[in-house]
Amino acid sequence: MKMTTAIHLSTKLNALLGPKGWLDDPADVSRFCSDWAGRERATPIGVACPTTTQDVSAVVTACNEHGIAIIPQGGRTGLVLGNIPHSENSIILSLCRMNRISPITAGDFCVETEAGALLGDLHTTLEDTELMFPVHLGSEGSAQIGGLIATNAGGNMAFRFGMMQDQVLGLEVVLPDGRIWDGVRSLIKDNAGFHLRRLFCGSEGRLGIITRATLRLHAAPRNRATAFLAFSDTQAALNFSTHVRLNLGEIVTGMEFITDTVMGMTLSHIPELIFPLEARADTYLLIELSSAVDSLDLTELLENAFVRGYEDQQVLDGVIAQNEAQREALWRLREELPEGQKRDGAQLKHDVSVPVSRIAEFLQTTDAKAKSLNPNLRICAFGHMGDGNIHYNYSSAHAGSTIADASALSRLVYDQIAQFGGSFAAEHGLGHKKTNLADDERSTVERDLMRSLRQALNPENLMNPDVVIN
Ligand SMILES: Cc1cc2nc3c(=O)[nH]c(=O)nc-3n(C[C@H](O)[C@H](O)[C@H](O)COP(=O)(O)OP(=O)(O)OC[C@H]3O[C@@H](n4cnc5c(N)ncnc54)[C@H](O)[C@@H]3O)c2cc1C
Repeated sequence: MKMTTAIHLSTKLNALLGPKGWLDDPADVSRFCSDWAGRERATPIGVACPTTTQDVSAVVTACNEHGIAIIPQGGRTGLVLGNIPHSENSIILSLCRMNRISPITAGDFCVETEAGALLGDLHTTLEDTELMFPVHLGSEGSAQIGGLIATNAGGNMAFRFGMMQDQVLGLEVVLPDGRIWDGVRSLIKDNAGFHLRRLFCGSEGRLGIITRATLRLHAAPRNRATAFLAFSDTQAALNFSTHVRLNLGEIVTGMEFITDTVMGMTLSHIPELIFPLEARADTYLLIELSSAVDSLDLTELLENAFVRGYEDQQVLDGVIAQNEAQREALWRLREELPEGQKRDGAQLKHDVSVPVSRIAEFLQTTDAKAKSLNPNLRICAFGHMGDGNIHYNYSSAHAGSTIADASALSRLVYDQIAQFGGSFAAEHGLGHKKTNLADDERSTVERDLMRSLRQALNPENLMNPDVVIN
């Protein structure tokens, strides 16, 4: 990059955005250059933090004029390296100052927010209403609405309410040529042509910058029951979860599984966590029922399912939360799993999915093949029993040491995924990390379709280069 280009662009963006909106001091810039896992790849020219859609558009236009790449950035909790610069010939465009949430009208069952609003702040805003937003994930204190849409995040309730794309009613997007598409609507039924909003859900900043969204809301639960149950193996947990879902239907809103290796690892690294059962087992299920109908006795329904599972010798042991503090403690066991693994050291992560009925079979066969490659491997599998999404991660025999045969192990996992009719990228997206893998795994037709879309919307290739599709 020519130094003069960087200086000209910096001067222009400083004049446009002011000293709070354009950061080029290395100490300020470095705060935006690493992701949640602490990974850093390149230092950009600077960080733009606009406060209006018009300013986002002006920044994009200025970067186009200078041939500089733009990395749209939310809360940097994305796990696939799409949220940080990989070249110095770039700027970061952070949505962190566009975080307003509009007042909510209960009867509309929707909310309009700017893209930089934190998911956690949206949940807090809704506490004073009778409404809820059905996306919950461990990163909600930092993840932004725009980032969640751009990655089409899933989370714990996706099997019941869908992924982020199912919550989006309307969007405003700054396109890679600087034009603004105002598609902010609050309609469920809107078949006026192609569903453009869907195009940007999961596009990972490759097709434009999401600046505003209208999101669907639902009646808030007045009533919840949460259980943590132990099983002798994952097949028994799967059988039980199927039974519960078939018998209790739409009131089942949480169905997470955890295998014992990752449970033990997390308990050892986060000592304040309390394991709620007397003995450890092979697999655990965290089940939650919830409903807006407060006369339903959910605890009794859950107890009945638990007793039946116990009598059928499917369930080994379990607890049901007696109050909100106990409920939160049970959910923390699930939500701290990524942090527990992070504290343990090197991990080889695979965010994959398989048809729900084949989760146990996938784990059994893949575990055995992986162990034959590397007998000392610790296999950390957990995920969303309701939708087949498995976080299938490997750690070495001892905390802190590197994982031998990493590329052979990942190849093995992705071959297994292909055999099981699964997805090699379930909910975290592709980012920089999986773009080459995706090139190998996709059919030619699928690859051509995606490339045509990228070419049509982002022909100069300056919007988040090398992410999703080249
Ligand atoms: C502890 C932990 C738990 C997690 N749990 C889950 C989970 O259960 N389910 C799940 O799906 N994910 C999960 N994630 C992954 C992560 O939280 C999600 O990918 C989240 O949606 C990213 O949001 P963000 O604001 O941090 O985006 P970033 O990480 O900043 O960006 C992610 C991608 O989106 C693009 N982007 C960001 N904002 C915009 C925008 N406004 N317009 C266009 N493109 C944009 C970026 O360029 C990048 O490619 C977890 C992560 C952590 C650290």
